[in-house]
Amino acid sequence: MLNGQCPRCRSRSVYRRKNGIVSGAKHIFVTGLGFTTPRSDKLTCVCTNCGYYENYVADKAILAKVAAKWEKV
Ligand SMILES: [Zn+2]
Repeated sequence: MLNGQCPRCRSRSVYRRKNGIVSGAKHIFVTGLGFTTPRSDKLTCVCTNCGYYENYVADKAILAKVAAKWEKV
């Protein structure tokens, strides 16, 4: 979706904004990375054609820790 195309309807009417859609908390809390639980801003992408949206972890350092600590799918 970050490439500008909706994965559901294939529309290119995709827009993004930091913390664009917030469900309860402002930040994502990422668990299992150590003693303290890091927080990250969310990058929200929304398709204005069908309404589908996704949230991404914005902090690359947290993504690297997840890759080292979480079980790979
Ligand atoms: Zn769409």
